[in-house]
Amino acid sequence: MRILVVEDDADLNRQIVTSLTDAGYVVDKALDGEEGHFLGDTEPYDAVILDLGLPVLDGVSVLEKWRRAGRKMPVIILTARDRWSDKVAGFDAGADDYVTKPFHMEEVLARVRALVRRTAGHATSELTCGPVSLDTKGARVLVNGMPLKLTSLEYRLLAYLMHHGGKVVSRTELVEHLYDQDFDRDSNTIEVFVGRLRKKLGVDVLHTIRGMGYCMSETGNEQ
Ligand code: CA
Repeated sequence: MRILVVEDDADLNRQIVTSLTDAGYVVDKALDGEEGHFLGDTEPYDAVILDLGLPVLDGVSVLEKWRRAGRKMPVIILTARDRWSDKVAGFDAGADDYVTKPFHMEEVLARVRALVRRTAGHATSELTCGPVSLDTKGARVLVNGMPLKLTSLEYRLLAYLMHHGGKVVSRTELVEHLYDQDFDRDSNTIEVFVGRLRKKLGVDVLHTIRGMGYCMSETGNEQ
């Protein structure tokens, strides 16, 4: 899952990025509205954290421009406490949720988790596919009830596929959602990681759909 953080307070931006990265997300950041708008307009994100008070272009304008251009990713706005009018303006511009400053990082993480899973159509923070279960809250994976140790990239790969369980996910889509903008992307390496993940899982749930991509499902659906 790939997240964009648009916040002009450099310390706060770094804190949010660090917390999200520790929680297993891949994160891009922007320090002003113009850069944030550009990234959100050109890169696919699974969620965006958007401060409203931003230099160059304010957060509400950024959001309005994204929505006018048809960008649908879920957006959490950061607002000052007591500024109820900011929240109204944010929701009217197309925000999905808000957090008031100052906040506890745990709240931001919980809201991101909720938004990402709701967008993918899941009601709880635990996702399952046959014998595999993924706890998005603790970033833990169990296979037949036994904990499975994964690298951070393997975890991101599994989490993305499980959020989109039952659907075919292309290699290009995986590359776009597993790496940040600075990464030298090569879709061929995805195949290697999928192979490694499949081996570690040791159960038949990660299917290759020839010429199309990959699909997590309990029943075999190779074509
Ligand atoms: Ca600000």
